[in-house]
Amino acid sequence: MDLIQIRRELHEIPEIGFQEFKTQSYLKTIIGNMASERIELVEWRTGLAVKVSGSAPRKTIGWRTDIDGLPISEETGLPFASRHEGFMHACGHDIHMTVALGLLELLVEHPLDNDAVILFQPAEEGPGGAQPFLEWLETERPDLLPDELFALHIAPELPVGTVATKPGLLFANTSELFIDLRGKGGHAAYPHQTRDMAVAAAALLMQLQTIVSRNVDPMDSAVLTIGKLSAGTVQNIIAERARLEGTIRTLTPESMASVKKRVESLCRSIEEGYECRVSIDYGANYRQVDNDEQLAESFLRYAQDRSGIQAVRSKAAMTGEDFGYFTERLPALMFWAGAGSEFGLHHAKLAPDERLLSFMPEFLYDYFKLR
Ligand SMILES: [Zn+2]
Ligand SMILES: [Zn+2]
Repeated sequence: MDLIQIRRELHEIPEIGFQEFKTQSYLKTIIGNMASERIELVEWRTGLAVKVSGSAPRKTIGWRTDIDGLPISEETGLPFASRHEGFMHACGHDIHMTVALGLLELLVEHPLDNDAVILFQPAEEGPGGAQPFLEWLETERPDLLPDELFALHIAPELPVGTVATKPGLLFANTSELFIDLRGKGGHAAYPHQTRDMAVAAAALLMQLQTIVSRNVDPMDSAVLTIGKLSAGTVQNIIAERARLEGTIRTLTPESMASVKKRVESLCRSIEEGYECRVSIDYGANYRQVDNDEQLAESFLRYAQDRSGIQAVRSKAAMTGEDFGYFTERLPALMFWAGAGSEFGLHHAKLAPDERLLSFMPEFLYDYFKLR
């Protein structure tokens, strides 16, 4: 298999969460070409679970890749840039899928003693595929649930050849945050007859900033970012509506709950103080990625001894990943894989270094052999 070519073909057809129809059919074609009696392929929505039977299985080792792209217009100028206008594999999930296919091919050609399962998971970027996929596996196909599960995410800021992870918390709890305010609009010269939502939204925005500084334990940590604030229609009409869009990040599920409680009570006080209606929508919520301690130590030891690989103990980050639902249910490990790109994740010019593909599947296959 030519992994570079596969990656480029996948890169051309990015699709967003639960719309990964072409991607799924492309993956099925590639896997179909591996024609082997050892493979069982099962579809779940736009994703796939692929089982490879081992020769004397004691357990099932799992690999998970996400498969979705983002609603971003690509600006790399590469010859294999996205052919889907307005969409791009800007989070490296094309690389992730290709690594998974490379690993799958090795597992098929040189079966392990143990069974292996590769999960091609849709909708990581939203609305979140891990949780429903896991629920489906548990209720419908528990035989496809691995005993231990691994995954990587490319890290543009690290050079190719570097892998980085840590035991315990790797990524934060995350929640989207959408707040809508509805008051009473009117003529700019008659404010007393209106309920101005531009003013109410400005007040709310400032009050939200006090949650992390005044309500979160200083020895804990959290982020509350409002990335978008909009209100009103034109310069001489008082705004009837306003909207705040943002995200919350915390290091424990408990502090996520308490930050949300505080958001809700500040919104109630805005309703009262500005005589308006405020509604909150939390959108997509992801649970923290909690790496299994033993898997993390075993993986780091293995990586340290491997020539050509730099193994690094990373810090936790306030980024989110729905892989957290797997780490809640199973012993699981996610790690960063260096992919040296000048531009970061979710950037329209992200261009991961494809040399990653030349060694990563074999690096993982050899690790699976040891499990
Ligand atoms: Zn992403
Ligand atoms: Zn991603």
